[in-house]
Amino acid sequence: MKKTVIGIFAHPDDAEILCTGTLSLFERAEWSVHIATLATGDKGTAVYNRNEISRIRKQEATESAGLINASYHCLDFEDAYIFYDRESINKTCALIRRIKPSVVFTSPQSDYMVDHEMTSLIVQTACFCAGMKNLEVDEKPFEPVPYLYYCDPLEGKDKFGNNVEPSIYVNISSVIETKTKMLECHRSQRDWLKAHHKVDEYILSMQGYAKRRGKESNTEYAEGFIQHLGHGYPQNNVLEELLPGFVVTRQSLTKQ
Ligand SMILES: [Zn+2]
Repeated sequence: MKKTVIGIFAHPDDAEILCTGTLSLFERAEWSVHIATLATGDKGTAVYNRNEISRIRKQEATESAGLINASYHCLDFEDAYIFYDRESINKTCALIRRIKPSVVFTSPQSDYMVDHEMTSLIVQTACFCAGMKNLEVDEKPFEPVPYLYYCDPLEGKDKFGNNVEPSIYVNISSVIETKTKMLECHRSQRDWLKAHHKVDEYILSMQGYAKRRGKESNTEYAEGFIQHLGHGYPQNNVLEELLPGFVVTRQSLTKQ
């Protein structure tokens, strides 16, 4: 198996909120790690114009990725205008074909923001089509279809307010500091929220949430995932093999 993993999300900082603990563990296991966003984060500001904030946020994302020796890629779509269409599928599939990941993380299919949901669908199709010869992409197809995992929706609830139960937890207690430092790189967002809430809501809510998932899985801090198990995708939970000792399944918790 090629030791390459990628997290593909809508906006800069989504990965840090949802799965950079797990990506840090991959990096420690000597995997090559990539983080990509479809959009530039151009609406995440009350101060700058679109070009300025896009440049700032790409810099923040690059700096954050650098903390785990990861490469950051931006597909340069715009916030609120991520569409499930030819262009987004082709660009995402081209990226996947260049990197040839064995494992892919993305946003959940039901979340508070449509950008996240569209990204999730786009990534699903881009992975499925990674090996399809006639997709309109110059990069060479490759097989097999990568393992695909969905991260939690924000606050662990879908858009109807239902709690989402992860089927897989990854114990990130040993890398919570790295995850925190990565999120701290997104200064434009942190400062914005700080001014709004008067407390360091950005960092505190991420840590509080990881603590909640930790409690559910009898660990200190955790990230939750659901594996894509549709036809054509690998069916075994490879995270258990790749991150031995760090993975707790819901199945094992209900047996206790
Ligand atoms: Zn987002």
